[in-house]
Amino acid sequence: PASASAPAYAVDSYPTSHEQIKDVQDTPYFIDNKFLKSETTQFIDLHDPATNNLVTRVPQSTDAELKAAVESAQKAFPGWRATSVMARQQVMFKFTQLVRDNWDRLAASITLEQGKTFADAKGDVLRGLQVAEGACNIPQQMVGEVLEVAKDMETRSYREPLGVVAAICPFNFPAMIPLWSIPIATATGNCLILKPSERDPGAAIILAELAEKAGMPPGVLNIVHGAAKTVDFILDEPAIKAISFVGSNRAGEYIFTKGSANGKRVQANLGAKNHAAILPDANKQHALNSIVGAAFGAAGQRCMALSTLVMVGETKEWLNELAESTKALKVNGGFEEGADLGPVISPQSKERIEGLIASAEEEGATILLDGRGFKPAKYPNGNWVGPTIITNVKPHMRCYKEEIFGPVLVCLNVDSLDEAVDLINANEYGNGVAIFTKSGATATAFQKNIEAGQVGINVPVSLPLDCLILPGIRALIVS
Ligand code: NAD
Repeated sequence: PASASAPAYAVDSYPTSHEQIKDVQDTPYFIDNKFLKSETTQFIDLHDPATNNLVTRVPQSTDAELKAAVESAQKAFPGWRATSVMARQQVMFKFTQLVRDNWDRLAASITLEQGKTFADAKGDVLRGLQVAEGACNIPQQMVGEVLEVAKDMETRSYREPLGVVAAICPFNFPAMIPLWSIPIATATGNCLILKPSERDPGAAIILAELAEKAGMPPGVLNIVHGAAKTVDFILDEPAIKAISFVGSNRAGEYIFTKGSANGKRVQANLGAKNHAAILPDANKQHALNSIVGAAFGAAGQRCMALSTLVMVGETKEWLNELAESTKALKVNGGFEEGADLGPVISPQSKERIEGLIASAEEEGATILLDGRGFKPAKYPNGNWVGPTIITNVKPHMRCYKEEIFGPVLVCLNVDSLDEAVDLINANEYGNGVAIFTKSGATATAFQKNIEAGQVGINVPVSLPLDCLILPGIRALIVS
């Protein structure tokens, strides 16, 4: 490849704490099991969300580098496909062990680049690790089918790798989402080109190092960088047979439409506006604690965040208690002891979130708890938005219609369960939903009538199942 002569990158010096960002280096790309410095002239600066100090410059991979990544994967495919599934399983066993051994290092990179608390970042790694552990069972999952059609005739179905496949990842789970793809794509015999989010590629780079150490041959996993230009290359490249995308509706609808039109298989996991309905017979303390954690944890930057509360009947009287519990949350740098939530990803994101809070005010909602203007003393330059609760929200308001993706809970009032179900079903998003009630009959009626992929009963919709759910199957989580 054109860039093979570029100097190798010292991955061990990748910054993993606020203090380490003294010697800013460009993020390397990964091809043929080598870390290389891009020859591009276009970079995307990556800033620590808690300080806005420069951490690294993420290259916009050049066309030659992108083509080289595809060629490397194409070259690796025949050998990797012919490698026995037991041998690929062994690589996966080593890979999961290495992820465990490097757990803190991965989490520190996430806290530094993405901003979430160190404990949350460890959870990010854990949920990805669970997928990698699942992939250790790949021989069983790849079992095919045989039908004896007649006495002298059989049809057999085999599970075959497709060839070169690609993953396009969002910023909010820098380890978990690359780990939805790396283990499954490679253990099944595919060669993967992964594009991490240009906003926090550090964890993916560490994972590439671990994949190489685990014994993945050169070309089985390649990592390229950039934004829309790299995505367009992936969409237009005929050698790439399938794409796994996770991210916003805007990018996802484009990728799904164009990728499908180009004859690729595309799976696209998009945005969310997850609702929780709270009933007067709920265990109040449990419900309020669950909602506070699920609305504001990870600064609301989770696709499974519970960002919308539907208060049925007299539960609207519980708002002050909800606000008191929320005020107890500590917003601080992610490495700080006791921090419950960190900054949001970028100054632009902070501005967008604050704009949505302002729009709610203008449209007649009430800002019960206002997180605008908050700054922890030690990190005055970060992208801070304190937990915010907006009440008296109506369905036509922008704060209800748009995914806020920040530490903001919007609250609506309804008089009955039926009204709650109609309201939630009318919303265009349907990732997950939760109900808090002590009544089995109410929970069952809700579960049957609600249109959402995951239903939590007395549990805020939980993330790990995201990766385990099969298309067309609904998950029910009950506590
Ligand atoms: P994003 O859509 O901005 O970016 C995701 C990826 O798409 C990135 O790699 C980015 O480079 C690329 N991209 C962005 N804009 C593009 C464009 N116009 N054309 C082509 N490519 C483009 O998403 P994000 O802000 O990084 O992540 C947050 C979003 O992801 C939220 O909407 C969240 O709900 C969603 N998300 C969904 C799930 C799920 O499982 N459903 C999981 C995590 C996050």
